[in-house]
Amino acid sequence: MSTSRIAARVRRIKPSPSTSAADRANELRRQGKSIVNLVVGEPDFDTPLHIRQAAAAAMDKGATRYTLMAGTVELRQAIVAKLERENGLTYALNEIIATSGAKSAIYSAFAITLEPGDEVIVPAPYWVSYPDMVLASDGTPVTVACPEANDFKLTPAQLEAAITPKTRWLLINSPSNPTGAAYTLAEYRALADVLVKHPQVLVMTDDIYEHIRFDGERTPHFLQAAPEMRERTLVVNGVSKTYAMTGWRIGYVAGPRDLVQALDTLLSQSTGNCCSISQAAAAAALNGDQRFVTESVAIYKQRRDATLARINAIPGLSCRTPEGAFYLYVNCAGLIGKTTPEGKLLKEDGDVVMYLLESVGVAVVAGTAYGLSPYFRLSIATSIEILEDGCTRIARAVAELH
Ligand code: PLP
Repeated sequence: MSTSRIAARVRRIKPSPSTSAADRANELRRQGKSIVNLVVGEPDFDTPLHIRQAAAAAMDKGATRYTLMAGTVELRQAIVAKLERENGLTYALNEIIATSGAKSAIYSAFAITLEPGDEVIVPAPYWVSYPDMVLASDGTPVTVACPEANDFKLTPAQLEAAITPKTRWLLINSPSNPTGAAYTLAEYRALADVLVKHPQVLVMTDDIYEHIRFDGERTPHFLQAAPEMRERTLVVNGVSKTYAMTGWRIGYVAGPRDLVQALDTLLSQSTGNCCSISQAAAAAALNGDQRFVTESVAIYKQRRDATLARINAIPGLSCRTPEGAFYLYVNCAGLIGKTTPEGKLLKEDGDVVMYLLESVGVAVVAGTAYGLSPYFRLSIATSIEILEDGCTRIARAVAELH
């Protein structure tokens, strides 16, 4: 028996690097240092009023009890209508389950499908939680580096090379956290042409940033390009990012009946249904006025354009234009090998991030956390004034390197 009280599958995982970076920034702020925090990955807007009012009305009407495990009929009908209206996807009520955030949906999907050693293909750069979620379910994350030269996207040849008899899932996140890169229908079709040859592989689409899109395009869905993949695709989405509802904890899954049924069983024996009041709020978000979405995306776009221009004007830094999400994934290869005024050599992106924090108080997250270096992620989910201040400080710090 192990000497540790903590199970090996939990000892294998680590706390979220973005949380650690935010903690470090907050610690320095407590010490009195002026900090520009560009770490956070959540909208800086309040949840729209009509959504908050729907939650209050639900409480007043007594919607304070357990709901069906899969979520209220009202919420699941709203999800069915959303998938039909926005994605052209048709699902029955019993192919939908509401979860406590998309995070819990993804984790639970691995928990119900992975046998020890099963592999999950995770294109890098990836959202920090994916590999750890796989490890926590005794699976093996197979990360595939998708370089900037390929717009940070997985190619069919890379996918083919990564698939083995043990591959259980391919994870797709478009637009992506951290790069904002988004797949086109043609790119999806090319990936699907590989997948049809490997029937053991399931596809999970993490669509959480689908509405945060700057190029005027509607985010296409993998299943629109590959409808024949419906029976082995799990659609994951939620209201956190689109409607500024990160604290309400509502995500959802649409997929084949056997997977949804297994999720229902696992969740019914662990978390139980997600918050009844939040479910009413999420239904109002999906069914209601969508003006907040267009208005907030227009603001993110102004911030993206302003910040991108400032970053790309700093010698040694560059950033590909993201199609969506609210991050810039900044290439800092031009700073590696330089020396700080204190004589410290910048060997990797973690050193760059530490230098920016210690010298000018700008908190960002190192590319190592996302599986592709040398980069850092900067969040634009904050005011234009804070972003301007951050860019001015970064430019000052970079100018002092030699
Ligand atoms: N998927 C991605 C790519 C994310 O960036 C996040 C949050 O940062 C989530 C899922 C989790 O969303 P939720 O708040 O619904 O759990």
